[in-house]
Amino acid sequence: MKDTSLKTYGEDVFSERAIRERLNRPVATKLLATMREGKPLDPTIADAVAEGMKNWALAKGATHFTHWFQPLTGGTAEKHDAFLEPTGPAQAVQRFSGQNLIGGETDASSFPSGGLRSTFEARGYTAWDPTSPAFIKRHDNGATLCIPTAFCSYNGETLDMKTPLLRSIQAVSRATERLMHKFRQPKAHVDITLGAEQEYFLIDKCFCMKRPDLLQTGRTVFGAAPAKHQQLEDHYFGAIKPRVLKFMTEVEDRLWRLGIPAKTRHNEVAPAQFELAPMFESLNLAVDHNMLIMEVLRQTAERNDLVCLLHEKPFEGVNGSGKHCNWSISYGGRNLLSPGSNPRENAIFITFLLAIIRAIEMHADILRETTAGAGNDHRLGANEAPPAIISVFLGDELNAVLDSIEKGMRDEGKGVREGGRGMKLRIGVDTLPPLPKDTTDRNRTSPFAFTGNKFEFRAPGSSQNCAKSQMVLNTIVAESIDALCDKLDAMKGDFNANLQKLLQAQVKAHKRVIFSGDGYSSDWPKEARRRGLPNLRDTMASLAPLKDERNIALFERYGVLSRGEMLSRWEIGMEDYHRRIRIEAGIALEIARSMIRPVVADEFSKLATAIGQARKDGLKVGIRGLTALSMKLGAGLDDLHVKCDRLERALARGRHPDQIAAMEDLRRTVDRLEGLVDDSRWPLPKYREMLFVY
Ligand code: ADP
Ligand code: MG
Repeated sequence: MKDTSLKTYGEDVFSERAIRERLNRPVATKLLATMREGKPLDPTIADAVAEGMKNWALAKGATHFTHWFQPLTGGTAEKHDAFLEPTGPAQAVQRFSGQNLIGGETDASSFPSGGLRSTFEARGYTAWDPTSPAFIKRHDNGATLCIPTAFCSYNGETLDMKTPLLRSIQAVSRATERLMHKFRQPKAHVDITLGAEQEYFLIDKCFCMKRPDLLQTGRTVFGAAPAKHQQLEDHYFGAIKPRVLKFMTEVEDRLWRLGIPAKTRHNEVAPAQFELAPMFESLNLAVDHNMLIMEVLRQTAERNDLVCLLHEKPFEGVNGSGKHCNWSISYGGRNLLSPGSNPRENAIFITFLLAIIRAIEMHADILRETTAGAGNDHRLGANEAPPAIISVFLGDELNAVLDSIEKGMRDEGKGVREGGRGMKLRIGVDTLPPLPKDTTDRNRTSPFAFTGNKFEFRAPGSSQNCAKSQMVLNTIVAESIDALCDKLDAMKGDFNANLQKLLQAQVKAHKRVIFSGDGYSSDWPKEARRRGLPNLRDTMASLAPLKDERNIALFERYGVLSRGEMLSRWEIGMEDYHRRIRIEAGIALEIARSMIRPVVADEFSKLATAIGQARKDGLKVGIRGLTALSMKLGAGLDDLHVKCDRLERALARGRHPDQIAAMEDLRRTVDRLEGLVDDSRWPLPKYREMLFVY
């Protein structure tokens, strides 16, 4: 039985409580201030902090420490060092210095750098990010102290996801302070918040072991859709099966010990698909926590003889998995995306809302880029996930408010307009009407939806590091807020009147990105083209914005990514994409030739023998059936041969669109054969088993 009292919540985190217990008061106070402000650690207290942290970790059974970082592979990385220092022959003590804590040097040569790091300069440096507390990872034989760090090259170029994320948080925080100052709000702490909903599949490990495609790529490259999959819609929010619930409980126990507020669990739309949603937290911490959530999901599955699939599309024909990133800005503890209770708060809300709409409209391409990847290509635009066209959903009530703002100015002389819900509306700080408190409209087909008090970005894939999309979102919103501030600065006269004019101009200029209709409908891409919205359909197209001069200038201006860092990310994205497609094509070819073909050939030859025998024996019945089946199998066998050769040629030539096409073509043949060959001899576990049997 697990601890159900929350007594163990956060016990594996070097939290404020642990810090106060383990460090003397002046050191603890200084460290906590550093953590809150996100400044580098004062070197004079580093040794004392390290000593306290080590003693805390030792008490938890730790033997090693590691700088834990997020390289550009999209995953996490760690290299363990023992707290071991020999003091003489056969003598040693457990040591951990301030230097060990603050920074580390590591061999960066095997991490992707996209040409940033020359091979002769293979060193990489890690530096503690004190805004994310150290934590303990347990294993069967002990534990490891993990120190969240940023990772960069010898020349200071970032080789990770965290560094630009931290820079972008700073950018949007500064811009927010600037705009709030215009509204005469007292200075307060800006906190960017993220709640990332994590979708995943869970299947029995014994099936996975028999599927080389799942083992190597995380997705099934073959497999016919079963008669029943998700069409009865009986899985979503259904009763959770006991074995899955046991798994979920164990996941939560681990996460709670790590201070990760896992809150919601439920069955998702596809069979064998589930979701875990934590309470939102400060963005940088929430990103680290999502990385840990993915790790804990995988490891806990393993311990339960299950496999957790985080791929965006493990199974064709049923829904894929996303990672909905809920994002907001809080100022002095108040959520700025929550419609306020007085006109001033509402004016602030509408101004931020329009700044965000402007950001999405002007920078949709680079936001789309953050969701690029071989896995997500199967999902975006596949009528189960938002389309690849980035648009904003606001809901009827807010649409009506924006409409009034837009029209209101045209009748400025009269100053009064009908609002969406029949209310009188004049725009301006003093006269803005009460806004809807809770937008209950839900449009699941929109990639970027306002959901009452936050925006939900639904395009990121289930396996992707949220840092990527959040870093871009922060930067484009910072630019947008600054642009509005610049415009206000340039306007003379009454602030309210100026704001009114500015907001109206924003609605007019950027409303084309707002779309309330069905994002899955075939009319939407046409309509989007008419509106001039980009539709970057696949990874290749969606990586291109990284090379766009306008985007490079923007990210350089905010000091989030340099030109070299942008270009290196393009290179890494392309390389990753090509490699993944190649691996998928390679494994598809191997399975088709060495697992499927022998079974089909054997069955065909048995049939041929049986037909010959039946003829010899002069049987009157059965020959027709046997012949019909052998014709189908024979044709399938020929087909298999031709398509395998075609895939092999595509692999040799190296053009991945050809590889994808050849793989899909081969799949159709294999999936047809699946329905013809003796079930007991089909070498791959089938969808109807994998998705339903626990
Ligand atoms: P749904 O499935 O309807 O999208 P969920 O309740 O599953 O909603 O998830 C909503 C997510 O949004 C949760 O992680 C929640 O903590 C998060 N969230 C709520 N308020 C905010 C906010 N102000 N900033 C960021 N995330 C938020
Ligand atoms: Mg959601």
